Amino acid sequence: MICDYETVIGLEVHAELMTSSKMFCGCSTAHRAAEPNTLVCPVCLGMPGSLPVINERAIEFTVRTALALNCAIAEFAKFDRKNYHYPDLPKGYQISQYDMPLSRDGWLEIEVNGTAKRVGVRRVHLEEDTAKLTHIDDYSLVDFNRSGVPLLEIVTEPDIRSVGAAREYATRLRQILRWIGVSTGDMEAGALRIEPNISVRPRGTEAFGTRTEIKNLNSIRVVAQSLEYEIQRQIDLLESGGAVVQQTLGWDEACSVTVPQRSKEFAEDYRYFPEPDLPPLILSSAWVHDVRESLPELPEERRRRYVDELGLSTYDAGVLTADRATGVYFEQAVEAYDGDLKKVANWVTGELFRLLNEMDTSIELSPVTPEALAGLLRIVDDGVVSASKAKDVFQAMVETGKSAQDVVEEQGLRQISDQDRLLSVVDAVIDENPQAVEDYLGGKGAAVGYLMGHAMRMTRGQANPGVVRELLGERLATLESSEQ
Ligand code: ADP
Ligand code: MG
Ligand code: ZN
Repeated sequence: MICDYETVIGLEVHAELMTSSKMFCGCSTAHRAAEPNTLVCPVCLGMPGSLPVINERAIEFTVRTALALNCAIAEFAKFDRKNYHYPDLPKGYQISQYDMPLSRDGWLEIEVNGTAKRVGVRRVHLEEDTAKLTHIDDYSLVDFNRSGVPLLEIVTEPDIRSVGAAREYATRLRQILRWIGVSTGDMEAGALRIEPNISVRPRGTEAFGTRTEIKNLNSIRVVAQSLEYEIQRQIDLLESGGAVVQQTLGWDEACSVTVPQRSKEFAEDYRYFPEPDLPPLILSSAWVHDVRESLPELPEERRRRYVDELGLSTYDAGVLTADRATGVYFEQAVEAYDGDLKKVANWVTGELFRLLNEMDTSIELSPVTPEALAGLLRIVDDGVVSASKAKDVFQAMVETGKSAQDVVEEQGLRQISDQDRLLSVVDAVIDENPQAVEDYLGGKGAAVGYLMGHAMRMTRGQANPGVVRELLGERLATLESSEQ
C-alpha cells in the first residue's frame, strides 16, 4: 500500500414513527398486518384535489427524538415538496423538509475503544414514506398501505472514523428511538433503514475524499459488512491510480458486494419548493419545554448513574440499560429487596436473562415479577433456603409463576437449621463413618469436609451448612478430648 488511509463515514437513518395514523391523513399505520391497499384514502393515494393535514403526534415524536439527540429545535419550520417520479410515489412528489427542518445541530455520544466520542447530528426532520413495490418477473405490484406513514430522517455529520464506530452509533441510535417510544427500530421489518456515506482520505490530510452512498440497509451487521467492502474497494481504486466516482450503491446480499444503482442526483433535480397545501410550523418554547419534560431518563444518563451512584460495573450497567424495561425491572427489584443491589444485578443479568432467553420471552413478560425476585433474595438472606438451592427455587418460580415462599413450602426445600434435627444427622454421620473420624483424630483435618458432604447428602442439600459445620466441630472436639 502506498499510503495509510483514514475512513470517513456519515449515516442517514430513516425510521418509521409509531403514530397510530399516517402523516397527512387518518389512515392507520398498521401496514405490516394488513391486506395490500386496504389502509388508503385519497390523500395517501395522491389523488388530485385531496388535502393533507399535519399529524401533531408525528411532530411531537420528531421533537422528542431531536431533543434526545441534543439538537436545537427550530422555532419556525416548514414542509417542502421533493419532486421525483417513481411508481411508489403517485403524487409525483414526497412531502419532506428541505431548508427549514424541525431541528439541527445535535450529537450522540458513542464509545470507541473505551473512549467517549460525540457524533454530530446534522438534522432530524420529518417526511412521509412511499408505497411499497414488489417486483415479480417483468411487472411490479404497488401496495399503498405504507404510503404516507410518518418517517423520521436523522443525518449525521461526517464524524465517524471506523466501521466499529458506525456500528456503535447505529446501535445506540436504535436504542434511543425504542427507549423514547417513537419507533420500533425493527430493522428486519424495514421500520429502520440505514444509508451510510463513505469516503477515504490519506491519513493526516484535511480534505474529504469523494463519497459513495449505500442505500437502504436492513441490519447493523450488513451496515458493517458493506462498509468493510466499500472502504476496501475505494482504497484499491485509489491505490491503482483510479478515482472514486460519487454515486449511489446498493448492497448485493448474495455476492456480498456493493453495486452501482444510479448516478447521484443533485438537489436541484428535486426542484424543492415549500408545500403550498400545509401551513408552516411555529413551535412555541412552552410546547418544546413540555416535550423535553416528558422525556424519560436516557440510556447514557442511566448507565452513568448505575456506575457512579450505584457502584455497578460498566459491564453490568451496560447490560441493565440495554433497554428501558430491564432498568425498570432492576430498580423495582432493588426497591422491593432493600438489600445489596449487586446481588439483584447478578440475578437479573444471570439467572433471569438465562431463563427468559430459554423461553424466548422479554423481561416485560417475565413470569417472575421484580417483587417476587426480591422475595427470593430475602428468604435466602433469612436462611429459609440455602444459596445453593436458590437457583432451583428460581427455576420453579419461572415455571409456575409462584412466589419463592410457596415453592419452598410445596417442594419441601426449606433449609434445615433446627439444632436438634441436625444434631441427630451429625451423630448418624459420625456413627456411619468411623474411618473418617479416625483420620480426623489422627490429624487429617480434610476429613471434616468428607463428613460435611455426607451430612449434606443425608439432608438432600437442605441442611444449613453453617449450623452443621458448627455441630460437627463440637462433636469431634468432644471425641478428641475423650481420647486423650
Ligand atoms: P445529500 O443531502 O446530498 O445526501 P449531504 O451533504 O447532506 O448529502 O450528506 C449526506 C451524508 O453524507 C451525511 O451523513 C454526511 O455526513 C455524509 N458525508 C458528506 N460528505 C462525506 C464524505 N466526504 N465522506 C463521507 N460521508 C460524507
Ligand atoms: Mg443522501
Ligand atoms: Zn390515507
